[in-house]
Amino acid sequence: MSDTVTLSLTEATALSTAALTANGADAENARAVTDIMIRAERDRCASHGLFRLPGYCASLKSGKVKGTARPIASEIAPGAVRVSGDGGFAPLALEVGLPVLAKKAKSQGIAGMGLVDIYHFAALWPEVETLAEQGLCAFAFTQASPMVAPAGGIKPFFGTNPMAFSWPRPGKDPYVFDQASAAMARGDVMIHARDGHPVPPGTGIDVDGNPTTDPAEVLKGAQSPFGGYKGSNIALMVELLAGGLIGSVFSAEAGRLDNKDGGPPIGGEFIMAIDPTHFGDADHWAQHCEALFSELTAMDGVRLPGQRRRKARTETPTTGIVLPRSLVDTINGLVG
Ligand code: NDP
Repeated sequence: MSDTVTLSLTEATALSTAALTANGADAENARAVTDIMIRAERDRCASHGLFRLPGYCASLKSGKVKGTARPIASEIAPGAVRVSGDGGFAPLALEVGLPVLAKKAKSQGIAGMGLVDIYHFAALWPEVETLAEQGLCAFAFTQASPMVAPAGGIKPFFGTNPMAFSWPRPGKDPYVFDQASAAMARGDVMIHARDGHPVPPGTGIDVDGNPTTDPAEVLKGAQSPFGGYKGSNIALMVELLAGGLIGSVFSAEAGRLDNKDGGPPIGGEFIMAIDPTHFGDADHWAQHCEALFSELTAMDGVRLPGQRRRKARTETPTTGIVLPRSLVDTINGLVG
């Protein structure tokens, strides 16, 4: 028997919805969480696809996350939106907040949104891509629980703290990057451990602070920031924006609050959106930036971030997605 299973996106959607519903999510939350995982699978981002479903279900089952959450968006200042997540997963809170943020950014040029009381277990590109498809430049930041040792330290302190950026390209796919401030996303370290593959040097250290390429040792010890102290500085910036600025928790605080059920810790997310037509070059910004993209991508070996995902997106509706059989068995068990 093959150790993988191929599912269509429709089959994967049905399986995820059934598992979340069976574990306590109502229809709205099951739909929003499923949508975010299926978008990741569609783009072949395995670390934030159905691999996360057992963690989502564990957090519903333990009662940590509210499966019936109803997030509320409030306009708290001319340029500021706040979404109270009601103790639910991030996807529904994002669905509620993003249209409010986009409207504000378009009317006044720039706006920010803090999402609090949410549990974020997903990639960040969906939110910035959504804003770029509406003509906005966007940044997104979220913290996690302590997994990454700061430069010079050996104990986990920062989350893997990703940031994402998008740039609208009228008539074309937006420019989008989304990256952890750790050398490798946690989900990828876990997938390497599950599959028995070593991680690249620089991914992390063991409990005594020694560099290691054994993912199991990294998971027990600490991950490393990308680029040494530079990634460490970005991780701290993410803590300040997604924790300090919006009245949410820092990764270290989230770690102390967490019940370690295998799902996401409580946290926050900060998103900023900018309308390029409001900053003095309304007529030429797009053309000017397209010239930059053209010059860049004319170089051999250079590609734009997001291109791999976009290519996968055209393929998976036909090819389906390939999942480890063990994961599909686990999910079937969650459906009951
Ligand atoms: P990767 O290192 O896989 O990729 C980072 C970015 O670089 C992507 O946008 C990718 O685009 C781009 N890229 C890759 N190769 C090239 C290249 N040769 N030239 C130009 N661009 C390139 O991501 P990470 O492992 O750092 O993060 C993975 C995910 O984990 C992210 O989506 C992040 O949001 C998520 N995450 C979520 C957390 C949470 O708590 N919610 C915590 C930490 C991470 P492409 O996709 O097209 O390859």
